[in-house]
Amino acid sequence: MAARGKSEAFDGPQNGNRLIDSLPSGPRTAVLAHCEYVELPAGTVLCVADEPFEHVYFPIVGNITLMTKLAGHRPFETQGIGSEGMLGVNLILDVNRSFQQGIVQTPCLALRMETEALRAAIRRHSALRRMLQRYFSVVFEELLQAVGCIRFHDVGQRLARGLLLAQDRAPTAALPLTHRILAETLGVQRGAVTLAALKLQEDGCIRYSHGRIAIIDRAALEAAACKCYETSIGNPKSLCHTCRLPPNIAHAPSKGPKGE
Ligand SMILES: [Zn+2]
Repeated sequence: MAARGKSEAFDGPQNGNRLIDSLPSGPRTAVLAHCEYVELPAGTVLCVADEPFEHVYFPIVGNITLMTKLAGHRPFETQGIGSEGMLGVNLILDVNRSFQQGIVQTPCLALRMETEALRAAIRRHSALRRMLQRYFSVVFEELLQAVGCIRFHDVGQRLARGLLLAQDRAPTAALPLTHRILAETLGVQRGAVTLAALKLQEDGCIRYSHGRIAIIDRAALEAAACKCYETSIGNPKSLCHTCRLPPNIAHAPSKGPKGE
């Protein structure tokens, strides 16, 4: 993990993370004053289930995956986090404990902040508190959706959805995702992912080569994905993005003692 340090670029209104960018200038400046840029390689473990957070992360590019483990079963992804969100929103409940393991899935550039600094900022800035409460509610709704997705949608549909979200969060020509990583994310055996990826390749949606997946027909891949993609928080066109999160956060009424 490489830290770039605090940056003079922080004085701008857009830093690449939608949650931070949606804040009014006062709390945004307060949060950014305690942030540093970090580059996170794939596979980096950022938090462990039942252990406290040392830092929270606001991704700018890349994908963090939250993995749940049930006794006797392989772990599986219940949520992905990209530039639309953050790792560590539990702090808004005054709970400094991770419910899941957080792992970098595709290489990330993120803003990192110490948990105590965020807790202090939450106490001080009502606009930040309201934004994180609203984000938490959307995350909770997404988790409920994930329960249905895992229960009712097949591996191919879930794989297509995951690839679309991975590209949304890390727009590159080819995603660095091996079958092993995808199997771990979906909580299935590697052979099931291989079959599903082969079907998507035969249908002209993707091209798979040497651990990298290129999406060559996005419309076809969207057709192959389950409907959960349409409402996913990571989909830039979803209702969460276009109708709920940014407008409601960005235009929340100012009620703070300092006009925040
Ligand atoms: Zn689904």
